[in-house]
Amino acid sequence: MLVYNTLTNKKEEFKPINPPNVSMYVCGPTIYNYFHIGNGRTFVMSDIIRRYLIYKGFDVKFVMNLTDVDDKIIKKANEEKITSAELTARYEAAFMDDIKKFKMKPADVYPKATDHMQEIENIIERLADKGVAYNVDGNVFYDIGKFNGYGKLSGKNIEDLEAGARIEINSEKQNPLDFSVWKKSKEGEPYWESKWGKGRPGWHIECSAMSMKHLGETIDIHAGGNDLIFPHHENEIAQSEAATGKEFAHYWMHFGFLNIDKQKMSKSLGNFFTARDILNQYPAEALRLLFVQSHYRSPLNFSKELIESAQKGTEKLNNLVRLLLKEIDKTDGNLVEFNFENKYKLFTEAMDDDFNTSQATAVIFDFVREVNKLIMDNENIGSEFYDEAIKFIKATADDVLGIIDFSELDSNESTEDDAWILKEIEKRTQAKSDKNWQLADEIRNSLADKGVILEDSKSGTIYKRK
Ligand code: AMP
Ligand code: ZN
Repeated sequence: MLVYNTLTNKKEEFKPINPPNVSMYVCGPTIYNYFHIGNGRTFVMSDIIRRYLIYKGFDVKFVMNLTDVDDKIIKKANEEKITSAELTARYEAAFMDDIKKFKMKPADVYPKATDHMQEIENIIERLADKGVAYNVDGNVFYDIGKFNGYGKLSGKNIEDLEAGARIEINSEKQNPLDFSVWKKSKEGEPYWESKWGKGRPGWHIECSAMSMKHLGETIDIHAGGNDLIFPHHENEIAQSEAATGKEFAHYWMHFGFLNIDKQKMSKSLGNFFTARDILNQYPAEALRLLFVQSHYRSPLNFSKELIESAQKGTEKLNNLVRLLLKEIDKTDGNLVEFNFENKYKLFTEAMDDDFNTSQATAVIFDFVREVNKLIMDNENIGSEFYDEAIKFIKATADDVLGIIDFSELDSNESTEDDAWILKEIEKRTQAKSDKNWQLADEIRNSLADKGVILEDSKSGTIYKRK
């Protein structure tokens, strides 16, 4: 199985430190707002990577942190005249609701920075003892000149960075690139007592501390959006490796941006849709399908047309599953030839190649088309086939990609025989290609009378019940 590693800029064979265990840390949200679907892309794709590792037989410990101490949080809490803790409690609850709606598997741990002050202080102390961090009147900075590997993740070199860095006026830093690991508290800010006085941690050190606490000093996978490569992850590596003398994470995985009109979706630009707004309008499966149709490292431009077409895709999958569930109890049918093994192989090959979900999704939709055709072409198929077909969809589309919800597809809900509907659709498709528009319309209308609505798309006709 190959995984693209930002650290080496290439696909590498995936070798966990202690198989079958895999430790995975994902930089989660700053909880001062509802998260948007750009953040959602990062969260969902990390969920899918985790689910696929489980499919492969790994035992994954998945940690996603919540940043609950930060300048943006303090600013917003002050604007709303509430405490930072009140603000983050509100958005932590909202985050939990939203990821549930998104059908994300709950993380094993959602650590929060404010619960790890002791661990954070310990790492800063280790850095200070080694002379890698220095205290200037209650502000503690990391001295990047003391760490040889600085720039190894982002590929930046220190001289270039120094040339480009703005020299801050009145800065206490020895080098403009040094960054804060502990910030002295100002009036009206939340603070924690430490050996450097009242203050709060820098953002980067929080992740170093939480990753080490919950997963150990060296982990398998550390992930986040592309914007975190520099400086966040670069700084996490510098701090952690200087403190422990060990490699911090073996595989660094980064997710491409979700864009709107070719611009990164972001809170600060205001060009975002919150996950909760979109998930109130569309099923989670549709948004997940939209995400998996692109490779996780590529940028993805969001539009209403795209999500509507993804929703049609999920309907096709749902229609097939409704049909399969309805037929599954029938016994005494005929055996039909179908190479399920090859379908699993194609799915696994795609996912083994750096989680090529768009290829894997194509395998699933080919399967849907072939099975639909097979059902239409054959009378009285044995239940064994239906059983295997459902198993395949459950293992791939449900368990790994999360683009179908079996609990919503109760077979008893069907009012008409789905096989019959598919046959009618087939007849109508034939009528259309014969340019027999009258017959095509008659079929559409008679289905509509029975509450079955047809929708034509480029890749065929799907149906919905009213
Ligand atoms: P934040 O709450 O801004 O710290 O972001 C939480 C996570 O979402 C981080 O891993 C970010 O890299 C990621 N992220 C932010 N904006 C986008 C976007 N437009 N597309 C994909 N991921 C994003
Ligand atoms: Zn982080």
